[in-house]
Amino acid sequence: MPRPFKPRRVSEMPRYTYFKPTGVPMPLLEEVVLTIDEVEALRLKDIEKLEQHECAKRMNVAQSTLQRILVSAREKLTLAIIEGKALRIHGGPYAISGERICPRCRRHRRGNEEQRREDCPECGV
Ligand SMILES: [Zn+2]
Repeated sequence: MPRPFKPRRVSEMPRYTYFKPTGVPMPLLEEVVLTIDEVEALRLKDIEKLEQHECAKRMNVAQSTLQRILVSAREKLTLAIIEGKALRIHGGPYAISGERICPRCRRHRRGNEEQRREDCPECGV
């Protein structure tokens, strides 16, 4: 049995999704991918200044998971800054508040509660 998919709750999509060092031609640029849930963890902890247990509660994850997300996010940021890599913000096991995630194809769906209960238009689940 695969583990049930438990998305990390994110309050809003990041406004900026790509950063690159100046003076490095695109073909030579390596990318680091920071996930949407990692950005949310950084935002809650470092911008909203919440305690870790509060961040964990907001994102609907265990505190140990939140800790791992933060460590991973900071490693990626540091790598991008120190080694001059581009930073792409993309993907991750997240759901925007109020979204339904299809358990099979992982498509994100918005809408009211009734619309979210309907079968997935992508795969029918
Ligand atoms: Zn689906």
